[in-house]
Amino acid sequence: MTPGTPTLPSGLDSMEQIAGRLAGKRAAVFLDYDGTLTPIVSRPELAVLSDEMRATLERLAAVCTVAIVSGRDRLDVEGLVKVDGLVYAGSHGFDIVGPGGLDMQHEEGARYRPILEQAADEIEQRVGGIEGVLIERKKYAVAIHYRLVADEHLPRIDAAVDEVAGAHPELRRTGGKKVYELRPKLEWHKGKAVLWLLEALDLDHPDVVPFYLGDDETDEDAFRAIADRGIGVMVAEDRGATSARYLLRDPGEARAFLDRLIDTVEGTH
Ligand SMILES: [Mg+2]
Repeated sequence: MTPGTPTLPSGLDSMEQIAGRLAGKRAAVFLDYDGTLTPIVSRPELAVLSDEMRATLERLAAVCTVAIVSGRDRLDVEGLVKVDGLVYAGSHGFDIVGPGGLDMQHEEGARYRPILEQAADEIEQRVGGIEGVLIERKKYAVAIHYRLVADEHLPRIDAAVDEVAGAHPELRRTGGKKVYELRPKLEWHKGKAVLWLLEALDLDHPDVVPFYLGDDETDEDAFRAIADRGIGVMVAEDRGATSARYLLRDPGEARAFLDRLIDTVEGTH
């Protein structure tokens, strides 16, 4: 394969096939936030949802279950999306709230808060002085953003995260686009959260086709979780190894895809 050749078909070019999978069935749509619904930005607080995307989400929520599944704290992502009637799964699914009184706080995860707090202090001590480094104390994780850090300082940050992770065997180190994260070492992630939600929302049935749109490493757990029954869509430049089935290049294409999915669900395509 020549470099740059996409390994996945375009989701937009595959709508007929997708409509075929949906015939006589219901859709449930799970969406990552950063990089999927909004472009990647230099600081997390700048990732603002466009009015157009919000309108699409509102229309989508009127025709099927929609859940936002983000690494952000749940209140944070809820405040950015601001659409009623959605399920919000924050902290990679450790904190889930939705319509009808749906409310799940991962109990075991909550016990890790003091350890995360301490780990955040230790990282702060080691790299807090480096220009551009952003240490985010989240409810179920510590995120170390380095998008704004000069390349020469990156090895030091990498080493500090390793050191602190090594000192806390209860935590595991994960990462994403220009961010390191320390999270509870628990068998819980976006994939488990999606499966949990399908059951909790009574969508764990053969006539439900789950969709998952995501752009990053942590979304692979969700792509894998639904691979046998649903449709994973990667929103990113093609990166080769993935359990997603289709590709959309950016949040603009993701919105076009969701618009066409709405039409398909409404049967007006
Ligand atoms: Mg993302």
